[in-house]
Amino acid sequence: KSIKIASPMRTQAILNQYGLRAKKKFGQNFLTDANILTGIVAAAELTKEDAVVEIGPGIGGLTEYLAQAADQVFAFEIDPDMVKVLSETLSPYDNVTILNEDVLAVDLQADLAKHFGADRSVKVVANLPYYITTPILLALLQAKINWTNLVVMMQKEVADRLTAEPGTKEYGVLSIMLAYYANVTTALKVPRTAFNPAPNVDSAVVSLTPKQPDQPVEKPDQLFSLVKAAFAHRRKSLWNNLLQKFGKDEKIKERLTRALDQSKIEPGIRAERLTLNQLTDLYLALMEENF
Ligand code: SAM
Repeated sequence: KSIKIASPMRTQAILNQYGLRAKKKFGQNFLTDANILTGIVAAAELTKEDAVVEIGPGIGGLTEYLAQAADQVFAFEIDPDMVKVLSETLSPYDNVTILNEDVLAVDLQADLAKHFGADRSVKVVANLPYYITTPILLALLQAKINWTNLVVMMQKEVADRLTAEPGTKEYGVLSIMLAYYANVTTALKVPRTAFNPAPNVDSAVVSLTPKQPDQPVEKPDQLFSLVKAAFAHRRKSLWNNLLQKFGKDEKIKERLTRALDQSKIEPGIRAERLTLNQLTDLYLALMEENF
């Protein structure tokens, strides 16, 4: 049995062999801790029936675990140097396909439908490039793809924001957007020593499962733009943030007051104390007032 790609020695040997260093601009930190890799596979509850999407396979350390645990792996890697490495390191696996693409530039829905067939559900498993964690998460959640589980490594600070409860300082727009689409739990905490090179921050693996929002809205983007406006100045009241967004003339104030009344929200409250459901109530009330 050959030595795992992700073992600390083999990872370093592969980088040396290709004369490569981890590229900061692509957020390259390679996982070299077998316990964490096993933990990621366990969190995704992978079986030989599963179609997996990976983002950023790098030199293939995590990909190898995925290839062994799942049916098919389909991965997006932006760095052509990595794609070259992968063609060698993953050559023992015939169930892996790598696309040399920026995951933020592709049509995820179309690419997945083409590769797996339109109806097949997928699990997304990735050690994300940290500089674009949020845009990738939002792209995954907003693309019309049929995912059953999303297990992703990210910087611990971002994981804390995703799982934050109202009233805490981590709670914000991201927590609320995530709460709309998914149930979120932290599966693993990961020390910086689990990587080569070690990043400057600790990490966490977050597990998301899809959910039906309690109050689905027709245009979630409009709801989120209200949420962003409500949080524009965290230390200011909801009322002041709403005036900032919609304007300050008397007619507007009257309509805003009615909408707040209707949704039973105190104008003086700060957005950070409001749940997704309360903000959705406010959004629907504002729609009724023709905002
Ligand atoms: N999966 C490997 C591991 O766990 O060891 C590498 C993870 S590393 C944190 C992030 C990977 O994402 C790198 O391989 C990097 O080149 C790749 N990447 C960065 N930006 C990307 C993008 N926009 N689209 C696709 N891959 C990207």
